[in-house]
This record gives sequence, structure tokens and C-alpha cells, in this order.
Amino acid sequence: MTTTTAPLPSPLVLVVEDEPSIASILTAYLERDGLRARQTGDGPTALQLFHQLRPDLVLLDIHLPGVDGLDILRAIRDDGQTPVIMVTALADDVDKLLGLRLGADDYVVKPFSPPEVVARVRAVLRRAVPRPADKEQPPIRVGRIEIDHRAHEALCREPDGRTVPLPLTLTEFRLLACLAAQPRRCFSRSHLIEHCLPESDALDRVIDSHLSKLRRKLQQAGQGELIETVRGIGYRFLPGDAAVP
Ligand code: CA
Repeated sequence: MTTTTAPLPSPLVLVVEDEPSIASILTAYLERDGLRARQTGDGPTALQLFHQLRPDLVLLDIHLPGVDGLDILRAIRDDGQTPVIMVTALADDVDKLLGLRLGADDYVVKPFSPPEVVARVRAVLRRAVPRPADKEQPPIRVGRIEIDHRAHEALCREPDGRTVPLPLTLTEFRLLACLAAQPRRCFSRSHLIEHCLPESDALDRVIDSHLSKLRRKLQQAGQGELIETVRGIGYRFLPGDAAVP
């Protein structure tokens, strides 16, 4: 087989799952789809492998013996934006997770079909890689916010002129970039799902959860209420009082 470009290593997925049969099936399906996979059912080993291997995505079971998968998610989030898909046996866990706002990128409820999980993994990986069109876009400046697609980074300009990066997840970055690109335009939840979480079967409440976290981070950065809920429709970006040139 010939290729026209130098082959990049396939994305690496860290499978954290304590049921060996499930872990093996997932690993087999991921590898059959051309991904690389490593598996562990042990919390401390999971974190060790995470730091050592720097996987492109973590598939993380919530219920692990002796350790809470949510603590592993917290540790991964403290480290950065590595995409995480949470796996749970209980649909109720999804509500709990959304309530905790820990920033998982997607959720899978057992029992699941392995091909479906692989499709979710592929969808989240696609979102995580900046698309060429994104890189070509010039930075957006709205009020004190600057969105740099090249760097995949949102910055806040302080009154003294310093810029401070906003600690956003990839999904939050995409949502902010989408909303701020057209201030005052109202975006429906379905539009935001389609453009910011493509090929995910995310629910409206998932968008609400991401938006809620994004708003909180903007508030914590002293930016006030930049995103308005439009009842029954969706969201819009209002530079408002923050629109200081
Ligand atoms: Ca388990």
C-alpha cells in the first residue's frame, strides 16, 4: 500500500475498565478501526499510564474497584484538555456527571454496542483536532475576549492590557468561538450541537451543561454575563458592557 503523506501514528486511546471482557472487546474494536489502545482496570495505573503515554483520548469507566472514576476525571482535567468519554452502567450517573460539571466530552451507558463506542471515540477525536478551516480563520476579538483559532486558545484582556488565557475545554472553546463569531445572533441548541459537537448524539442538556461551565469561567475571568439564554431557543453572545475596545 502506498501513501502520499508520511503516516502519523494513529490516535491512542486509554481504556480504563475493570471488567476484563469489556476492556478486551473495546480494545479489539478500537484496534480494528485503526486506533491504538492500551487498557487497565486499576485507578492508580490509569493515571500513571495517562501521564506516561499521553493518550489522545481516555475511555473511563466510572465504577472502578477502590477508586472513583470521577477522581480520575478530575485529575485528567487538572492536567489539561485530553478528551474523556465516561462509561457507566447507570443512566442516573449521566445526570450526576452533568450536575458535577467535571467536563467529560461524552457519555456512554452500558450495555453498549462496541461499534457505537468506537463511533463516539472517532467523533470526539475529530472535534479535538483543529480543523484546517479553523486554523485559517483570523482571531476574533469581541470586547475583552480574543479567540485565536490557530492556537486554539481564548484570551481575556485585562484592564492593564495583559492577556490571560481562559482555561476552556475543547468543547467550551468551540462553543465560545461559534457564539462570539456572530455576536447577538441567537443560536439554537441543535445548531450548537451540530457545529460544536459534530456527529455526537448529544442531548440539549449536554449543551446546557457545557454552556453553564463556559459562562462560569467567563464570570470567573471577570467578563460578566456574556452569554444570554434565549428561552425556548438557545443562546447568544452579547458583548454588552464588556465591549471595551
Ligand atoms: Ca466497572
